[in-house]
Amino acid sequence: MRTPRPPLRSDVLAAVQKRNLEHRAHRAGWLRAAVLGANDGLVSTASLLIGIVAAGQDNLVITAGIAGITAGAMSMAVGEYVSVSSQTDIERADRTLEQEHQRIDSIGEELALASIYVERGLSEELARAVARELHAKDGLKAHLKDELGQNEATVARPLQAAVASSLSFIVGGVIPFLGVFATTLGGKAYAIIVYRS
Ligand SMILES: [Zn+2]
Repeated sequence: MRTPRPPLRSDVLAAVQKRNLEHRAHRAGWLRAAVLGANDGLVSTASLLIGIVAAGQDNLVITAGIAGITAGAMSMAVGEYVSVSSQTDIERADRTLEQEHQRIDSIGEELALASIYVERGLSEELARAVARELHAKDGLKAHLKDELGQNEATVARPLQAAVASSLSFIVGGVIPFLGVFATTLGGKAYAIIVYRS
């Protein structure tokens, strides 16, 4: 016997959806890139400037700092773009492959999807019904999500990662760079290290 469906109350749903906006997963992409960029900016700029100060090249330290921060920000942007793009490429390739799988064996794929739901705890009867309904609507989407773990909130965004990492590199790099405006060489070295840590 079927249990009656609980009505999907729109007021309750709206409250839950509002609460769900508090989740942080969708920030993972740019936040990871920004932390990496800021850390690189701090460490590499401080190391570069300490080297210049240690060599006694007082007249070069500001130019070197600006050049180092510029080069680092460009390198971070390109590096993040390329590396995150490789993830986009994999996601795209998986989508094409899954489309092909569903084209050549739609019934087998529907069964595979049902087995995922059985593993997750549904009864076989219900799992097959869920898989059937999802396949009838958008089988590809269901497979991408439940078989391959692709999620709209965590999808790879190369441009966003590139911008986040290069901007945070500049912010990180400027902190030890402020040390070069100390009046003496010893003061510069001290300030670079102190601002960095
Ligand atoms: Zn599949």
